[in-house]
Amino acid sequence: MAGEELKEKPKAKKKGMAAQTRLIIAGLFASTVFIFLAACFATYSIGENMNKAYKNFAQVLSKTLAIEGVEVTKELPELAKYDALRTNSVSVLKSNDDIAFIIFKDPKSKIIYSSKDDYPDQAEKARITVSSPMIVKNGSLTTNAGSVTVGLSGNIMDKVSATSRGSLVFVFVLAWFVILGIIYMNSSIITRELRKLHQGVKKISSGEFGYMLDDKDVDKEIKELYSAFNDMSEKLSRYNEQTIESLTFERNKLESVLMSIVNGVVVCDNHDKVIMVNNYAKRLLEVEEDDILNTQIQDFCDSTGEFCFSDKIAKFKDTPLDEDGSPINFTIEIDQRILKCLISPMFTRSNSYVGYIIIIIDVTKEHEMDQLRSNFISNVSHELRTPVTVLRSYIDTLYNFGNDFDFNTQREFIGVMNQEIIRMNRMVNDILDFSRYEAQNIHLEKTKQDIVEIIEDAVNQVHVLAKEHDLTISIMKEPDLPEIPINVDSISRAFMNILSNAIKYSPDGKRIKVRAERSRDGEYVEVSVEDQGPGISEKDQKRVFDRFYRVENATHSVKGTGLGLHLVKVTIEKHHQGQVFVNSKEGEGSTFGFRLPIHPKEEEREEYIPKHQLPAESEA
Ligand code: ADP
Repeated sequence: MAGEELKEKPKAKKKGMAAQTRLIIAGLFASTVFIFLAACFATYSIGENMNKAYKNFAQVLSKTLAIEGVEVTKELPELAKYDALRTNSVSVLKSNDDIAFIIFKDPKSKIIYSSKDDYPDQAEKARITVSSPMIVKNGSLTTNAGSVTVGLSGNIMDKVSATSRGSLVFVFVLAWFVILGIIYMNSSIITRELRKLHQGVKKISSGEFGYMLDDKDVDKEIKELYSAFNDMSEKLSRYNEQTIESLTFERNKLESVLMSIVNGVVVCDNHDKVIMVNNYAKRLLEVEEDDILNTQIQDFCDSTGEFCFSDKIAKFKDTPLDEDGSPINFTIEIDQRILKCLISPMFTRSNSYVGYIIIIIDVTKEHEMDQLRSNFISNVSHELRTPVTVLRSYIDTLYNFGNDFDFNTQREFIGVMNQEIIRMNRMVNDILDFSRYEAQNIHLEKTKQDIVEIIEDAVNQVHVLAKEHDLTISIMKEPDLPEIPINVDSISRAFMNILSNAIKYSPDGKRIKVRAERSRDGEYVEVSVEDQGPGISEKDQKRVFDRFYRVENATHSVKGTGLGLHLVKVTIEKHHQGQVFVNSKEGEGSTFGFRLPIHPKEEEREEYIPKHQLPAESEA
């Protein structure tokens, strides 16, 4: 706003002169007129006085000449008077240029002597003529001896009045200039202070808040103006600092929110230049901030060297900009991670397009889970089809040709059918347990139980199967193991899963060792099953307890659902505060097992997320 007002100022100039300038010019004009009139009046009155004085001088001169004439001609004969008056008059005329002529007359007004005869040119200059009678005093008797007429040219008066007029004009012109100078100086002092103020305002408008004006040696009014300005400047500076602080705070807040989002965020301006990238995006894209900031996003290469964003950005740009439009989404692959990217345009409050934002979500887990799920379905179908086929063929044979077989063969047939039903039953139980145990609020009743009994029971159950594959199962139990609080059914099934896997994945004729012992710290009872099967790679060991996860390769060709070990983990960790573990070496065998606390803590019924599914762990 301030800037706009300042910008408008030059327009105001066009309207005409400032009031202050107009006032100064008017004052100057008035003082000029006044000085001129005063000068005229002074010149006029000086002229008048000079005239009067000159006339007085002429009177005095004529009277003096009259007295002198009487003195000079006294007691002279008539003829000699002319010469005496002439001599006297010539000397007077020569003594003063201003005297144009002198004429002496007798009492009958007959000219005795006239200087006009001798100096006719000088006589022509006469402008003032004065006459005085020549009086002869003889005791108390006075007689008229004639008169004197003096003509004066007025040169002295002209000179004097010209000089005085000149001096006056000079004085008044000087006075005029002095006034002009004072006005100029005064206004320049005022405008200098105003200029300083103007400079200050310019500084403020250019953002230099806190600029101070020096109010030393300035008028009181200006001083007040300056201190008001300084006050305003200081307040603006403080306000500015506060605003900057709060803006910085807001910016930092936004930045830290963006930085800590557990999805990648890449912000590009409307020239496709990357202007911001958060930590998670850097990690997902496997790029350093300096390598991506201020570069074109289209130039980014994935791990295969492809410009993975290039065509997607082109597609995004071809799509008409619509604020409410759904973001364009696509997936890219970087170092075996599947990244889902969403591009959405960014608009300011005033709806102008300023660029776009790319949200990057790591969907590797979901992607894998999808694959695991579809594998699970095909595995379950396969697992069901096999026993159903076996059952159908055995039942069919028994139904059609049962009488042809002896009792033992029939028993054998029924035994096989029973095994298949047990297998099917176990699988169905697994699936049921899976959905039951995953439920958040399920609570398993526990009783104190000797774990060795459960182990021996399970080993007895698989005895026939083990024998079929010529497998030796040995149990090593530590004497005097304490009874522990467990849910017998779920622990039996968990142990059975581990034991069945050992049988399932062991080649015929191998040995399986079952151990039950106290842990080293004495807090747990540890149960483990060691086999001499194909073993599991380290990478797979980390994931065998994940739901639906199956190791599928040449050595692990046996079908399954991928649920068994996950159920063991949920049973042990979620429902018994224990831990599962696996130690294995490819080609040598595996040891699967679990630890159960002898004195478990009071149970907290809270939401359970298996450790391996926590984001932090999955990151690690
Ligand atoms: P499945 O029904 O496939 O056996 P599990 O969850 O019980 O599902 O096992 C997960 C994967 O762990 C299996 O696919 C298998 O490859 C591997 N596995 C489990 N136990 C053993 C073992 N004792 N030896 C070798 N591999 C095993």
